[in-house]
Amino acid sequence: MRTHREPLPEELLTSWFARRIRDPAGRKLPEPKAVRDRAGRWRHPDILPARGWLRFASQHFDVPEVQLASHTVTRRYAALTPELVAWSCSPADIGNSPWSRLPKLKICWCSRCLADDFAAGRPAHIRQDWVIAAIGFCHHHRWPLEDRCNACGSSVWAFRTPARGALRMVCTACWRPLERSFPPALEASNAIRHCWEAVIAFEHQIMTALRGKTPDQFCLNFTSAEQVLREVRDISGLLISSDRSDWAPVNAFPCAAMMPGHRLPEFHSTDAPHPLASARIPLRRSLLAATCAIVMDAGSDVALLDPGVAPAIETFLSRVEGAAIDSFIAAPGRWSPSLIQRIAETRRATRRSASIARLKGCISAIDRAFA
Ligand SMILES: [Zn+2]
Ligand SMILES: [Zn+2]
Repeated sequence: MRTHREPLPEELLTSWFARRIRDPAGRKLPEPKAVRDRAGRWRHPDILPARGWLRFASQHFDVPEVQLASHTVTRRYAALTPELVAWSCSPADIGNSPWSRLPKLKICWCSRCLADDFAAGRPAHIRQDWVIAAIGFCHHHRWPLEDRCNACGSSVWAFRTPARGALRMVCTACWRPLERSFPPALEASNAIRHCWEAVIAFEHQIMTALRGKTPDQFCLNFTSAEQVLREVRDISGLLISSDRSDWAPVNAFPCAAMMPGHRLPEFHSTDAPHPLASARIPLRRSLLAATCAIVMDAGSDVALLDPGVAPAIETFLSRVEGAAIDSFIAAPGRWSPSLIQRIAETRRATRRSASIARLKGCISAIDRAFA
């Protein structure tokens, strides 16, 4: 069996490191950790590795330092910022106390990628895309990512080397290998898969923007890479925050296809400034589906949201504080001109409908008075 000495093409550096210390030839080494540099910035081994750690890993496993340095998530996605990385403990949550916790990535996985690893006799490994908070699907398999064992619901897993065959990822609560797909996802109807495809098409534009490239102008016209990323961050923040109650506006955008086999939970509002970075998969996919429907006007060509729901842009404007939306619109160049124009048109149409309804009310009152 091949040992795969170097990181696999899309592998996280910490996944490669964890695999190598499990090799018979590998030595037991301390787990890689995030450290602060002299400027006070956090340097996570997968995001912005410290030179010292790269040198240490390179020497121990005889892989050139330059090769490891070229294998980080930020090399792959030049425009990636910490708010679009999935954290179980984010750098923003950590104070300056020396006893604070360390930043830690939140890892999701695609059961079908892991099944491919198993079938090919390749070690199970964590892909870099699985720590991007702005996607909820594997784009190779067009398949929902998972963050819990689909048999017992535990989120704790480990690499295990079986008696025969390559390394696997297994749930440490029920010892089920994580490459087994969730049956309701396998049985998903065409209508559900159609919804997945709509969100995957949107996520594809996000990934293009994260690479620093301009998104497809047929999907997102007059929208720059920076504007797509800001709209995703800002709108997902608006959809989960509320001044009025703990009911989050994202609940007004139900999309059952995002969680096949489960009931969509009711999401509570939060003041977290970057909800995607800390959200579990149900909330993350719901926020992305709602943002997709608002930004891409997906309601016009695909029934992304559940039946009976008003057009997404109307729901967005009726459920989210107008002043909060206006503050983003007022920042020059923050959102795309096409989104701002659709918001203005929807507001005008809503005002017109309200005036007509008021007028009709007056006419019926006069009719009743003279009847
Ligand atoms: Zn996959
Ligand atoms: Zn389990």
